[in-house]
Amino acid sequence: MGAYYIDIKTADSSARNIYIALNKVESVSLNFNELRLKGDEILIGQFKEIIDGFVVDEYPTFEIDLSGKNPPRELEKPSQKQKDGQKPQPVTKRWTNPTAPNGLVKYLSGDFTDTDGDGMTDVAETKYGFNLNDPSSFPAEPELVENKLPIESSEIGAYYEVYRGKIIIKWSESPDVDYSLHLKTSDSSSWNIYYGGHYIDSAEVNFNKFNLKGNEKLVGSFGKSDKDGNFVEQYSEFEIDLSHVKFPQISDIGAPDNRISYTFSSDFPEDAESKYREFLKRVLPIMYSYLGPPAESINVLIKNMGEDTDYFMIVDNGRTFLSDTDFIPRLIVHELVHAWKGGYTITSDKNWEYDKALSGFEEGGAEGLAFEIIHEYVRDYPNDVATEQLLNYKPFQYWSKSTTYYDSLKNLRWTGAGQFWTDNDAAYIRYSISATTIQMMIKENPDFMKQFLSMYYKRIRENPDWRPNRGDIIDMWAALVPALNGYPLKEYLNTIPVFNGRNLDRGIYALTEIRPYGAIGDQQFAVSYAAPNGRLWDIEENDIKKIPKWVKVVKGSDGYYYMDFQDSIFMVEVANAHGQQTIYSFKTIWKRHPNGLPTGYGWVGPEELNMENFPIGLYKETVTFTDYLPYDSEASDTFYFFGLKGVSQNRANEYVIMIGVDGVPSGTAEIYIDGVKYTAPIINGAAVFTSTEWKFDMQGRVLITITNADGISKTYYRTIVESGTYHLYYQQQFIIVDIGFNGIEDQFE
Ligand SMILES: [Zn+2]
Repeated sequence: MGAYYIDIKTADSSARNIYIALNKVESVSLNFNELRLKGDEILIGQFKEIIDGFVVDEYPTFEIDLSGKNPPRELEKPSQKQKDGQKPQPVTKRWTNPTAPNGLVKYLSGDFTDTDGDGMTDVAETKYGFNLNDPSSFPAEPELVENKLPIESSEIGAYYEVYRGKIIIKWSESPDVDYSLHLKTSDSSSWNIYYGGHYIDSAEVNFNKFNLKGNEKLVGSFGKSDKDGNFVEQYSEFEIDLSHVKFPQISDIGAPDNRISYTFSSDFPEDAESKYREFLKRVLPIMYSYLGPPAESINVLIKNMGEDTDYFMIVDNGRTFLSDTDFIPRLIVHELVHAWKGGYTITSDKNWEYDKALSGFEEGGAEGLAFEIIHEYVRDYPNDVATEQLLNYKPFQYWSKSTTYYDSLKNLRWTGAGQFWTDNDAAYIRYSISATTIQMMIKENPDFMKQFLSMYYKRIRENPDWRPNRGDIIDMWAALVPALNGYPLKEYLNTIPVFNGRNLDRGIYALTEIRPYGAIGDQQFAVSYAAPNGRLWDIEENDIKKIPKWVKVVKGSDGYYYMDFQDSIFMVEVANAHGQQTIYSFKTIWKRHPNGLPTGYGWVGPEELNMENFPIGLYKETVTFTDYLPYDSEASDTFYFFGLKGVSQNRANEYVIMIGVDGVPSGTAEIYIDGVKYTAPIINGAAVFTSTEWKFDMQGRVLITITNADGISKTYYRTIVESGTYHLYYQQQFIIVDIGFNGIEDQFE
C-alpha cells in the first residue's frame, strides 16, 4: 500500500495555494493568519495515493466551506470532467533502477547490488576497500584519538588538551560551586598565568600570549567557592611539565595518517548516541574520500546542549561539537567538515582564532560538501535508516531548496558575506548560494575539496606565517577548477556577493526572496539597513551613533536596538521581455510584538506579483523604496523572476528546466542532456523544457545554445546539481542576462 498525500487550495485559485503534499502526514493544520485567509473561504482538497514516488490513485476532490454555510462535501473526480472532453493524462512511468532494493532509491542511478547483504553496496565496498563477499568487512568505529591528558592531583578531575602552541586546561562545571584556577610558571613568585579570570570550565594557556616557550614547568591549584562567591576550600598543588609534552608539529598538519574520532558527553541521550554512532561510522569513509586526511589528529567530543536548543556548532578548534542531539545527518556532516580542519579553518585571523570575513568559503565548503557526502551516502547504503530519513525529507535534509532559484539569488546585494548570521532569512540564502556554487565546482572536479585541503595544509606547513585570505584561497581554488559555467573561476566568484570576503557595506538594502509553491511560487519584499558589522536587524548600542538619523530603530528590553523599516512604501516596475512595463505600489507589513518591537522586517508578498499571474516568460523587476532614495541610491535594485501562468508539472515523472534570457525575447533554445539535443522555443524571453526521460539525479555541466529571431546563436553553460524545490519538484530555473547578446553574460563584462 502507498502513502496518502493531500493538496489543498482555495476555490478561487488555480494553484494549490494552501497546502501541497510534501511527505506522509496524518494531519494538516492550516493557520489562517500565516496563509492570509479570512476564514470564510471555500477550500478544495484532494487526497492522492503515492507508491514509490508515483501517483497511483487520485481520490475525488472535496470541499470545506470555512464560512460554515455549507456542510463539507465530496466533488466529482477531476479526471471525470476534463476540459474539452480530453482523456485524463496517464501517469507515465519513468526510468527506475532495476538494482534498487527499495522504493525510495528507485529513481537514483548507480548499481545497488549488495552481494554480502551487509547494507553497503558492492560499488561502495570496492571503493572504500572492503570485501564485497564478507558481511563482517564493514566500516567500524574509529580508534579513539587520545588528546586528554589527566592532571593527576587536581582533585576535581581536571585534564588538559594539547594543541600546537598552547594547552587548554578543562574541568567539569558544577551547578552548585565555582572552580577557580591559579596557575604560574614554577620559577615565578606570583600567579603570572591565571588567578581566576577564565571560562567556567576551561582555561587556555596560549604560549605566545603568556610569553612561554612551551618547555616550562607550570604549577597550579584549583579553589572552590559557592555560587555566592564565598570561598570554600583550596585544593592541593599540581604540576604540568611542558618539557615532557609531545606537541603537534607544524609538519603534522594534514599528515596522511591523521585521523578523527568521536566521543559523546555522558548526558547524551542513549538512542540519539546510537543513531549518531551508526551514521558516523558509515559516513567516515565517504568523508575521507571527499576531504582527505584531517588537518590534525583529534577526538571530537559531541556534547549535549539540550533538546530544542538548536545547537549545531563546532568549537575548540574542532575538538568539541555542540549538538542539540537531533539526528540531522546533513548538519552532522556539515559540522564535521569544519572539525576536519581542526584549528585551521578558512575563517581564521592572524592568531588562528575565528574571524568571519571568509565565511562564504568556509560555510559554503561545509554545506556544499555536506550535500555531496550525503548524496553519496544514500547510494552507498541504500537500505539504511539515515537514507530513509534523508530521502523522505529531501527539501530539509538532502538538498538546498533554493538551488532551483540559484540564478535569481546569486547576485543579490544583501547576500554579501562575512557575517552569515545577519538575520535568519539572509543566512539561509547565503548558505544556499555558497553551497550550490561549491557543489557545481565539485561537478567540474570531483576531488576539488580534497586537493584544495592538501594544497592549503601544505601552504601552512611551508609558510607558517601565511594566513587564509581571499586572494590566495581563490587562486588555489582556480588552480583546481579553472572555470565555472564558462567563465574563469576568479571572475565568476567576483560576481557573487557571498564570496566577497567582507561584511555587508553600510547602507540600505532592498530585500527580496522567492517563495516556491509547488511548481510555481511568489515573492516577498522588505527593506533594511546594514549597520556596522553588517547587521541588518539588531544593532549594539555603541553602533547607534554610527548610523544616520533617517534610519529608524527601536530599543529592545535586551539593550539591543532593532531596525524598524516596517510599513515602508515601495514601487515595483515589472518589465516583460519586450520591455513593456507595469508599475505597482505596495507597503511592507506593520506588525508589532506585545512589547512594541517590530516582529521582523515586515516582509510582504503581494498577490499581484505571484508567478502564476504572469504569462510564461522572463521578467525583470525594479524595486524602489522611494522614501529612502533621497538618502541612498541603493534603495532601488533590480531582480529577475519567471512568469509561470498555466505552468504545471507532474512531479512524479517530469523534470523541468527553464531558461530565461534577458536580451532574446523570442528565438530558440537548445540544450544537450546526456548527449541528446533538446530544442524549445523562446517565448517572452523564456524557454521551458519538460522531460519524463531525464533522470531526477542527473548532474553536471549543460551546454545551452540560444538563437535569436535574426538567426544569431550564442552559447552559455549552466551546471545542474542534484536538487529540486521545497515541494519536491525537479526544476531548475536558469537566468542568462546578455542584453547586448554578444555571448558574454553582462555580469562578466
Ligand atoms: Zn557551518
